[in-house]
Amino acid sequence: MKKTNQDYSAFVALSRDELLARLEAQLSAGRFAHVQRVEQTAIRLAQQYGADVQRAGLAGLVHDYAKQRSDAEFKQIIRQQQFDPELLTANNGIWHGVVGAYLIEHELGIHDQQVLNAVRRHTIGAVEMTALDKIIFVADFIEPGRDFPNVEQARAAANESLDVGVRFEIINTLKFLIAKQVNIYPKTIDTYNAWVAGRA
Ligand code: GDP
Ligand code: FE
Ligand code: FE
Repeated sequence: MKKTNQDYSAFVALSRDELLARLEAQLSAGRFAHVQRVEQTAIRLAQQYGADVQRAGLAGLVHDYAKQRSDAEFKQIIRQQQFDPELLTANNGIWHGVVGAYLIEHELGIHDQQVLNAVRRHTIGAVEMTALDKIIFVADFIEPGRDFPNVEQARAAANESLDVGVRFEIINTLKFLIAKQVNIYPKTIDTYNAWVAGRA
């Protein structure tokens, strides 16, 4: 039988409907709608760029699964699982991806490392990114519900190539964080430094 775009059975025992129910129970209505738009955007980008459509849809759907967990829970997991102690200096913006992948693996039973890495990297990117990593990073930024001053430019960049899209996004995110005068996580700066020179 031909697989549909949203058949995730190779990577997770839960059906898509069961995954949706688990996500809906964890997330606000707005966030729940966002993850479904990221799923669709990730599928579209995977089709456009010849990447794994099933992994892209699944990673897009679950990428913000842990977004509404408490800071206390994230800190407890970082200590208990002996994750990099540098993570303790971060906040939910970083934790819901990097530590959220742990909750996705253990609570949703998704063990595929390509999917989990794309979730881990979806907020801060990475110096080296797979096509799937780039797709989730970019899909999160350009999904049709996003509305920020440069979003049309971000969409055009993503349409040029995944690398152009990633570069546009990390530069914009850095500008945004600096304008807000918030703490920048060191790995976010590493991503910026690796991509700003324009490997694309
Ligand atoms: P969302 O989960 O769909 O809202 O989007 P992201 O996962 O991309 O981003 C989560 C939040 O983390 C956003 O508000 C980003 O601006 C923020 N963020 C990304 N990188 C950093 C960083 O290095 N430091 C801080 N303080 N926030 C960051
Ligand atoms: Fe996120
Ligand atoms: Fe998101």
